[in-house]
Amino acid sequence: METVACELPGGYVDEDGSIHREVILGPLTGAQEKALAQQDDASPDARVTGILAACIRRMGTLEKITDAHTRRLLVGDRQFLLLKLREITFGPRVHVTTRCSRPDCGERLDIEFTTGTVPVIRAPQEHRYMPLELPAEAEDPRTVTFRLPNGEDQEHLAHLAAEDEVLAATLLLARCIRTMGPHGNAPDREEIDALSQQAKTCIEEAMDRLAPKVVTTMEAFCPECRRNFSVAFDLQAFVLKEMGTRLDLLFQEVHYLAYHYHWSEKEILGMTRTDRRRYIDILSEAVERAHHAG
Ligand SMILES: [Zn+2]
Repeated sequence: METVACELPGGYVDEDGSIHREVILGPLTGAQEKALAQQDDASPDARVTGILAACIRRMGTLEKITDAHTRRLLVGDRQFLLLKLREITFGPRVHVTTRCSRPDCGERLDIEFTTGTVPVIRAPQEHRYMPLELPAEAEDPRTVTFRLPNGEDQEHLAHLAAEDEVLAATLLLARCIRTMGPHGNAPDREEIDALSQQAKTCIEEAMDRLAPKVVTTMEAFCPECRRNFSVAFDLQAFVLKEMGTRLDLLFQEVHYLAYHYHWSEKEILGMTRTDRRRYIDILSEAVERAHHAG
């Protein structure tokens, strides 16, 4: 089975403080596709957590990767792995249909790019928690220690971010700040609320500066109005949609291969989607030829 080695742009810091950067990634098997398709009530972020746990064969020295690990991967590292996974599952060429974002135009456009051209901003991590000096203002504490947002934060806050962005931002800070002030106490939500806007901005900017990122905003040219515009490419939604498995189709594939090759369901579900489809293509050609010969 085809696997690929890649290096996380950030890195996974485990409980002991060891850093894991090298990841061996492999495609989903049919059995994993089936399991993931059966939990269709999971949120998009939770689905990413599950997919990555199924596809990471090794991360640094960690070999048994579970949802608990992939939930704690940094947001940018998760994006990066999704991009790599897309590449090994469907190849590097990406084709998206969008609209010119100029309000007076809105022309439908096809955009093509390859996964290798998507900029990745590396920010190798050294520690899970980092200290930060805050500007000397009013009642704010002078120092905080914080960590960067991860998949678990996304799973908890994504639904809220759509409804109440301000509250989601406050709760994110409450989750990520470990200590505030000279005594190193963990702050509660009231204490986060009491921070000045300047302090909050300072922390948010530090988080942004220190985080690895996959840059998914692209410049495009609209031939209709002959102007450039920016496209925000939703990588996660795109990959989830492509990787999404329809259970009825999966069952049909198993049936078709079992019917002709007499393989067991277990054997067929042990294959990747690419291999299943390859056999199905060969079979349909053979069936077609036999039909014409007969
Ligand atoms: Zn246009």
